[in-house]
Amino acid sequence: MTESNIPLVDLRAQHAEVAAEVAAGFAAVLDTTAFIGGADVAAFESEFAAYCEAEHCVGVANGTDAIELALRGLGIGRGDEVVLPANTFIATAEAVDRAGADVVLVDCDARHLLIDPDRVAERITPRTKAVIGVDLYGQIAPFERLAQVVPEGVAVLEDAAQSQGARRHGRPIGDGVVAAPTSFYPGKNLGAYGDGGAVLVHDEAFDQRIRAFGAHGGLRRYEHDHIGFNSRLDTLQAVVLRAKLRRLEGWNERRRAAAVRYGELLADVEQVVAPASAEGNVHVWHLYVVRVADRDRVLAEMNANGIGAGIHYPTPVHLTTAFAGLGYGPGSFPVAEAAAPELLTLPLYPHITPDQQERVVETMVKALR
Ligand SMILES: *Cc1c(COP(=O)(O)O)cnc(C)c1O
Repeated sequence: MTESNIPLVDLRAQHAEVAAEVAAGFAAVLDTTAFIGGADVAAFESEFAAYCEAEHCVGVANGTDAIELALRGLGIGRGDEVVLPANTFIATAEAVDRAGADVVLVDCDARHLLIDPDRVAERITPRTKAVIGVDLYGQIAPFERLAQVVPEGVAVLEDAAQSQGARRHGRPIGDGVVAAPTSFYPGKNLGAYGDGGAVLVHDEAFDQRIRAFGAHGGLRRYEHDHIGFNSRLDTLQAVVLRAKLRRLEGWNERRRAAAVRYGELLADVEQVVAPASAEGNVHVWHLYVVRVADRDRVLAEMNANGIGAGIHYPTPVHLTTAFAGLGYGPGSFPVAEAAAPELLTLPLYPHITPDQQERVVETMVKALR
C-alpha cells in the first residue's frame, strides 16, 4: 500500500460533489458578465438567513470585514471598548481595532476554551460597548450566560466564522445575539472559492446600516452619508455558497462522525486530552484540537510522516507582536496561555476516511513514545 500524505484539510471531495452545479452557475454568470450583486447574492443571503433562522443576512467580502461592519453598524468606534477572548484567531481583534475601538481581552474556560463569562463580567467598564464571543473550533460560546453578565446597552456579538450549522440548546448561530458575523474562507465549514463573509442580524435597519458601510457609506449610488468602504460578496462566490449550503448539514454530520471516531481512537491514549462538546452544544468540528505535552516535537514528527497536523492558534492575541501595544504581558490570561503550547489540530474534513484517521492516531502515538 502506498501511503499518501493526509492534509489538515482536503477540499477536493467537497468540490467534486458540487462541481457540475458550480460550473453551470458560473456559466450563467459569465454569460451575463454581471459580477457584483444580482440574483445569486440575494438568493444566497436569504437562503443562509433561513438556514440560520435569522431575519437578515448581509453578504460581505470576508469574515474580518463582517465583524468590523457589525461593529460599525452598531455605531461602535473611537473611545469604545470591545471585550473578546484572548484565544481567538487574530481577525476578531483586528476587526475591533479597525473599527476604531479598544480591544479588551479576557480568558477562556479550561475545558472547552470558550470565552469565560465570569472573566467578562470583571472587564466591563462604562466604556464597554460590545462583547464578542467566539464559537471556537465549531461550538457555540455560552451566549445565554454572557447575556446575564453584560449590562443593558452592551451589545453581544457572535464570531461565527467557525460554526456554520452549529446549535446550542437547539438554537442556531445568531440566536440571542445582536449580530453573528461569519466567514466563508475556503477552509471554513461553509467555504467559498476565495474570500467571502456575511453578517446575520435580526433587524432591518441594522441590515441597511451594514450594507451602507460596505457600499461606500450609502445605499444609493453616489450618495454617501458617511465614509464607508467596499466590502461585497462576489456573485461567483454566491453561486458556490448556494451549492454548498445545500450540503452543509450532511458535511457537518460527517465531521461529527469523524470526531466521534477520533474520540474512540484516542480513548486509551493517556497522553492526549481529546476535545469535548460543552453541555447543550451540537458541535460542527471546524477543527479537532487535542492537547498534548511536548507538542512541538509531536507535531514535527507527525508532519515528517506525512500527517498535516497544525496549531490553532500558537500565540494568544495579547502575546502577538501586533497587539503587544495593548500592554498585557505573559501571565495575563493563564488558561489561554497554558493551553497554547499544548494545542495540536488533527486533520478533519467531511470526507476523511476511517483509515486516514487511524493512520493519524497511529502516527501520533508513535511520536508520543
Ligand atoms: C476565519 C476567522 C475569521 C476571519 O475570517 P476571514 O474571512 O478570514 O477574514 C474571524 N474569526 C475567526 C474565529 C475565524 O476563524
